[in-house]
Amino acid sequence: MPGDTSLININSEGKKQNTFDAIVIGSGISGGWAAKEFCEKGLKTLLLERGRDVVHLKDYPTATKNPWEFAHRGRLTKKETEENPIAGRCYAFNDTAKHFFVKDSEHPYIQEKPFDWIRGYQVGGKSLLWARQTQRWATYDFEGPARDGFAVDWPIRYDDIAPWYSYVEKFAGISGNLDGLDTLPDGEFLPPWEMNCVEKDMKQKIMAAYKDRNVIIGRCAHLTQPREIHLQQGRQQCQARNLCERGCPFGGYFSSNSSTIPWAQKTGNLTMRTNAVVHSIIYDQQKGRATGVRVIDTNTKKATEYFAKVIFVNAACLNSNLILLNSKSNRFPNGLGNDNDLMGKYIAFHNYRGSMFAEMDGYLDKYYYGRRPTQVMMPNFRNVHKQETDFLRGYTVHFGAGRMGINQHVEGSTIGGAFKDALCEPGGWYVSMMMQGETIPKESNHVRLSPDKTDAWGIPLLITSVDYDENDVKSMKDFLVQGEEMLHKAGCKNISIKDSKQAPGLDIHEVGGVRMGLDPKTSLLNKWNQLHACTNVFVTDGACMTSTSTQNPSITFMALTARAANHAVSELKKGNL
Ligand SMILES: Cc1cc2nc3c(=O)[nH]c(=O)nc-3n(C[C@H](O)[C@H](O)[C@H](O)COP(=O)(O)OP(=O)(O)OC[C@H]3O[C@@H](n4cnc5c(N)ncnc54)[C@H](O)[C@@H]3O)c2cc1C
Repeated sequence: MPGDTSLININSEGKKQNTFDAIVIGSGISGGWAAKEFCEKGLKTLLLERGRDVVHLKDYPTATKNPWEFAHRGRLTKKETEENPIAGRCYAFNDTAKHFFVKDSEHPYIQEKPFDWIRGYQVGGKSLLWARQTQRWATYDFEGPARDGFAVDWPIRYDDIAPWYSYVEKFAGISGNLDGLDTLPDGEFLPPWEMNCVEKDMKQKIMAAYKDRNVIIGRCAHLTQPREIHLQQGRQQCQARNLCERGCPFGGYFSSNSSTIPWAQKTGNLTMRTNAVVHSIIYDQQKGRATGVRVIDTNTKKATEYFAKVIFVNAACLNSNLILLNSKSNRFPNGLGNDNDLMGKYIAFHNYRGSMFAEMDGYLDKYYYGRRPTQVMMPNFRNVHKQETDFLRGYTVHFGAGRMGINQHVEGSTIGGAFKDALCEPGGWYVSMMMQGETIPKESNHVRLSPDKTDAWGIPLLITSVDYDENDVKSMKDFLVQGEEMLHKAGCKNISIKDSKQAPGLDIHEVGGVRMGLDPKTSLLNKWNQLHACTNVFVTDGACMTSTSTQNPSITFMALTARAANHAVSELKKGNL
């Protein structure tokens, strides 16, 4: 039976072969960082990945294809769309990148409430697919729960993590402008991308009209000007192709595949096992610590155990919850470290429901070069210093302006000279805007294990029970009013506003379930991301997050991971783990 460890007969020689200094579960954004840190510091490290290997350069089959080389010009067939109602809602799930997404039928889960769980099961995880927006959190974000009385207090503040933001930014390569804002701290930036002429004018008009609002170019994990450390990784300048989710042959954006994993491999200290799904973590009650993990080969279904002094759980938020909830023992019948029964609870995400579209007259003699891989943004301006509205927290605004496509502005005739001439010209300017709202972690927003349904490897299916609340609706309504007003003031016309009513999950920023905190009674992890009740197990992906702020999360996962891994190394040296 898959996962039945009573069937595992491991002799002492086999045990030695399967023993490492550190085990990292998951090779995505956060796991890649853990592996890099451990290997660099000399730890023999096992990186376990449930999916197949994806080798940088070699395994990007569509990266250099032209549109006409795809049977449907990059679009999915009707059959594929119908077969993937969940993955198909993600903008990046198309014929050019579908091989990096989990298809709906492959890995089922149970939606008690609608939740679009978007996943990438391969070496590199979702680091191949992400949109690479990398804004730091501000002081106000870490203070949020304590100030506004929700969730629990973060056990760290901005100053604890600031040096680690710098550390990961320098290696990953983050482009951005030094804007000097307290709501969005600056980092170690490569040169920023440029706003186009419409965006520059909009910035000037919006900032003149609102003293509390800033318009800046989004910070993103692209090499606008590679430094020595990036060249050493074998990466090159971003070519602004904006075909990133296919995998980048230039290494122009940060992915585990192009950066942290090859770096770890170069040390000679990394062992990577692919097609190896972690079933659970093994806890030794006598030793009072975790000793290893149970793994099932996804092809043969053979179970194996691996052992290490320290275990990092980086399977991405919901899968990390699943693994820990499934790690049951006499000491922890409800999941490893789950003494307070809070594991799987207080899941949060980002509210993406509100968006708008508008047109801008003029600027018809102006264009822009390349396909910029980032947008313009406005850091949160709601409830920053004190509570000002009838909803808690706030939202980041992302927006951008561009010329409409050549076939989007030709109305009426579909034949004739005038039609052909029009096809050679870009259309007028459009502006699109969307919110990224903070949601409040609540006990009722949770995931748990199915008591009776399992997957192909005998692992319980995950049940998702996560939804919006009144606060999210109020926040969205505020954005729709404020956004429309700002577009008006910036000179836009024909503004249409939209509540997409999309389910949680499609933001792909899910966090929580194994939250950090000061008190073991109300949290699962301490300030170094160690399980309070089993300190050689660390959780440093989205599962560890106490709240969600209004910023894209992954740069914070990287910084927390690097910080925790270096703490683990120093504790190992002291003999504390
Ligand atoms: C289209 C898209 C756009 C996005 N845009 C942004 C953005 O602009 N900015 C941002 O900050 N974030 C963005 N994200 C989110 C970002 O990708 C994730 O936050 C990030 O990848 C999470 O890192 P992770 O290490 O936790 O998980 P992942 O990168 O998903 O890696 C987890 C790995 O664990 C493996 N795994 C899972 N379960 C097991 C198991 N039981 N055993 C072994 N291995 C396992 C998976 O196969 C996977 O490889 C985006 C995501 C997508 C898909």
